[in-house]
Amino acid sequence: MCGDAGYLRQDVTIDDPRFGTISPCSCKVREIADRRMRALVERSNLSALAGMTFDTFMVGAPQRNAFTRAQQFAESPDGWLVIMGGYGTGKTHLAAAIGNQRLAATEPALFMVVPDLLDHLRSAYAPGSELGYDDLFEGVRQAPLLILDDLGTQISTQWAAEKLYQLFNHRYIFRLPTVITTNNSLDEIGGRLASRMSDPQISKCVTIDADDFRGAVSGAREPTGGNPRPYKRRSNRGVEFTDRP
Ligand SMILES: [Zn+2]
Repeated sequence: MCGDAGYLRQDVTIDDPRFGTISPCSCKVREIADRRMRALVERSNLSALAGMTFDTFMVGAPQRNAFTRAQQFAESPDGWLVIMGGYGTGKTHLAAAIGNQRLAATEPALFMVVPDLLDHLRSAYAPGSELGYDDLFEGVRQAPLLILDDLGTQISTQWAAEKLYQLFNHRYIFRLPTVITTNNSLDEIGGRLASRMSDPQISKCVTIDADDFRGAVSGAREPTGGNPRPYKRRSNRGVEFTDRP
């Protein structure tokens, strides 16, 4: 017992080299671990998505392959995992589940919604901004595990396209673990981003194809909210999962 001091004197004899030194008490060790965990969660952007875990994901037939791949990736993140599929197929949930599993193992993860990231960068870059643009971009560029949710084709400006390319290219060259979700096909994304996302040397692509859905799926439910966008495919007979909290 340290009596809230947080540290204990080593209980050793005078000829022990540790004599007179102090060591953290178990309560201190726990406090440090808790603080580290809180900091990891705060920095991850995952606190609002903490409920999106593998345990809470309802796996339908169309999701089975993506679910397995996502779990494998979460076990030991290596290279890139690209999760493709229409709105409401569970991509965001799987991507967040990867991040949440890493955090549970006290490993860092950074979750960014791509349109939000570009907005952040734009406002950070604005003259007079107090946000450090370079700090922000560097943090995202170097994140040990980066989850980019909702990569779209509506990249409005040349500037945004260039930033996104710089980000992708850096993570590609250094083979940094990255998860990307998108509603679009690689053809629709096109160009330099798609060529990196489709490089089998670094990237695994999985598609949640709701069109493949043929039979009964337990736990199927209707979308309960979110921000529906037009689904690219004509048919979406599959299970609807909410893609957003
Ligand atoms: Zn103590």
